[in-house]
Amino acid sequence: MEIIKTAKDMQAHAEKTRMQGKTIVFVPTMGFLHEGHLSLLREGSRHGDHLVLSIFVNPTQFAAGEDFESYPRDFEKDAAAAQKEGVDVIFAPEKANLYDDDFETYVSLEKLPNHLCGLSRPTHFRGVATIVTKLFNIVKPHAAVFGEKDYQQLAIIRRMTRDLNFDIRIIGVPIVREPDGLAMSSRNTYLAPEQRQAALSLYRSLSEAQNMVKTGETRATRLIEEARRTISAFPENSIDYVTVCDPDTLEDVALIDRPVLMALAVRVGKCRLIDNMVLHPAG
Ligand code: AMP
Repeated sequence: MEIIKTAKDMQAHAEKTRMQGKTIVFVPTMGFLHEGHLSLLREGSRHGDHLVLSIFVNPTQFAAGEDFESYPRDFEKDAAAAQKEGVDVIFAPEKANLYDDDFETYVSLEKLPNHLCGLSRPTHFRGVATIVTKLFNIVKPHAAVFGEKDYQQLAIIRRMTRDLNFDIRIIGVPIVREPDGLAMSSRNTYLAPEQRQAALSLYRSLSEAQNMVKTGETRATRLIEEARRTISAFPENSIDYVTVCDPDTLEDVALIDRPVLMALAVRVGKCRLIDNMVLHPAG
């Protein structure tokens, strides 16, 4: 496994790999790897013969006051896990290598960011779309793998890839959960034991909504009310949003007569958690 630190070296490596006729599959992450990331690597290795993992905590997707500085990092542990999964290259640049002091070019979408997480994190998806564009230009992948855990991010990357004609296949991977249902996240490490119990209410409320829909509930407002009740039963929880929306446009949906996305974001103590589920109506 090779560790590459600069964009220039990564581009040269990608070019050489392509010349050898190999298919590059790319898994971008911010590191502190868990089973969710590993499932992306495993899925990725089925779609090509050269697996590149990036580890980069991207400053432009964090707003002032968010957890950029304190975001958990453990490169040695990540490298060992990556090697075990058969990663060929870890691309791990320094911030200064990707962002010059006079950096001023951003990629932003018109509509998809105006929902869900974009409402409370108005500059987040501009940062995500920009870094993913840069990484696509540096890693030159044939395919790239993203988790459905960050549903809106995946939707934005699919749209951006289509709109900007990136010749890259985007592969989505289902959410990997702890045995008790909590969606795996690098940020779960922030949770104290009682907060972890409170955090279980995210998955519980999604599962309850799925049951309600299966047994004939068609009103989004009822699902949202119930989820809010389940989550608010824990004093350490503070709801950012609970939304039922169209899985493609992310526009709110009132009547559930087709599959819909239920998505939520909750602050548990200082830790902001997100989760989602596509709900399928009865029949
Ligand atoms: P992050 O390191 O949090 O930026 O995540 C890197 C990639 O891993 C993104 O595509 C995430 O959607 C994906 N990911 C994170 N957590 C999970 C999870 N629990 N299940 C599946 N994919 C995940």
